[in-house]
Amino acid sequence: MSGTNKSPNVALVGRPNVGKSALFNCLVGRKIAIVHDQPGITRDRISAVCRRGEQPFVVWDTGGVGGAGESELSTEVRRAVEEAIRDSDLLLFLVDAKDGLTPLDQELARMLRKSEKPAVLVVNKIDTEKHENLAVDFASLGFSESLSISAAHGRGISDLIESIDQLLPFPSAADQSLLTSHQSLSIAIIGRPNVGKSSLINSIVRSERAIVSELPGTTRDSVDILYERKGQKFLFIDTAGIRRRGKQSSSVEVFSVMRAERSIRRADLCVLIVDLTMGVTAQDKRIAGLIQKARKAALVVLNKWDLIRPKHSERKMMAQLVNETRARIFFLDYAPVLIASALTGENIEKLFEVIAKVRRAARERMGTGVLNRLLRSAFAANPPPMVSGRRLKLFYVAQASGIPEAALEPLEFVLFVNDPRLLSETYRRYLEARIRKAKPYPGLPIILTCRPRQETRRK
Ligand code: GDP
Repeated sequence: MSGTNKSPNVALVGRPNVGKSALFNCLVGRKIAIVHDQPGITRDRISAVCRRGEQPFVVWDTGGVGGAGESELSTEVRRAVEEAIRDSDLLLFLVDAKDGLTPLDQELARMLRKSEKPAVLVVNKIDTEKHENLAVDFASLGFSESLSISAAHGRGISDLIESIDQLLPFPSAADQSLLTSHQSLSIAIIGRPNVGKSSLINSIVRSERAIVSELPGTTRDSVDILYERKGQKFLFIDTAGIRRRGKQSSSVEVFSVMRAERSIRRADLCVLIVDLTMGVTAQDKRIAGLIQKARKAALVVLNKWDLIRPKHSERKMMAQLVNETRARIFFLDYAPVLIASALTGENIEKLFEVIAKVRRAARERMGTGVLNRLLRSAFAANPPPMVSGRRLKLFYVAQASGIPEAALEPLEFVLFVNDPRLLSETYRRYLEARIRKAKPYPGLPIILTCRPRQETRRK
């Protein structure tokens, strides 16, 4: 849950039935993780963090693409592979030793080689030493890194993790010094294509005597922008970079969930940009959901105000837009909503004021006495419901100390209770609302962690 988390991405690529899911489960050490539904793209993607190596990395399974037994790659599979290539730091190319080399493998291999991304050929289903010779078949694919494993039997997995460790990029020196200085607040500007993300970055960095430097981002076509303003450092991550002035933007960006998730994960704060001429779309909602799920600090910018500004009752319309937005993305109700124009620069200054407010709120702690009284009275006013004859009992609550070196401390309250399983989602929301009534904590997700009072450690 660290705000400065920046795990690299490793994607599993291979034709159907070579054992991608088995390897996935081997790496993450449990059966199946989160499944993402992507609109317009009819396949599911699964990701989870592997912590078995020196540094944690995120494993992506490109999923159940295409049917087994097909002789050529469907457009859909091709697209999935291209996306995986673009968005990951390392590719694991999985083949099936029992089936031998197939034309589909050859085609995939060509795509991977062309990409110049680091890749490891992983020959699966080598269940015993005796089968090692089956791997020879694949040498003709020309991968310099190659390993044989058995995902089903867990054979060769430690060696694989070791090579992954060696091949993953470590943060560049510049990045590292940025990360260790812990001075800069990492901000991800996210949104659908054409909502004005690049325009916003441009509008921000073009102002006054800004000190701006572009650092390589995590994909080839993205950069991180370090921006200093009034002595404070901001790192805009995974942006398309600063476009030269006057050059018309022609955004060819494709929205990718994997990419958005990665940016969200790296960020201390997420700025979701919504195009006012379109309103909050289903896709915007989905991105908001990703932010909420990652429990990141957030704010929403409704952009292109200049295009819809009415002649009269401007304020009334603004209030209405904010309300409508809140209603559409109610689950992100902690995020302040700002109306702005990246084109005219209107309210861009305000954006930084709101960011400062969020940062201040993150440092605000509730006194233990106040907090305990507050939650006790919340319990008394509206007691938790009985769950199978038992009721949640609160013994004590404390605000967690956060991560001292983080640019933005996560807000976490630890409730010591009789049994954490008795806290229902509805009741959790109720308690959160009570906390926010006492202190609004704008822009910050509230994490309520329940611990049993007795030292009975499960897990
Ligand atoms: P991105 O894909 O999210 O990076 O979007 P761009 O920044 O490339 O913007 C997409 C288009 O919207 C471009 O033609 C911009 O000039 C235009 N645009 C962005 N922000 C605004 C704004 O506030 N007002 C107006 N009128 N146009 C904008």
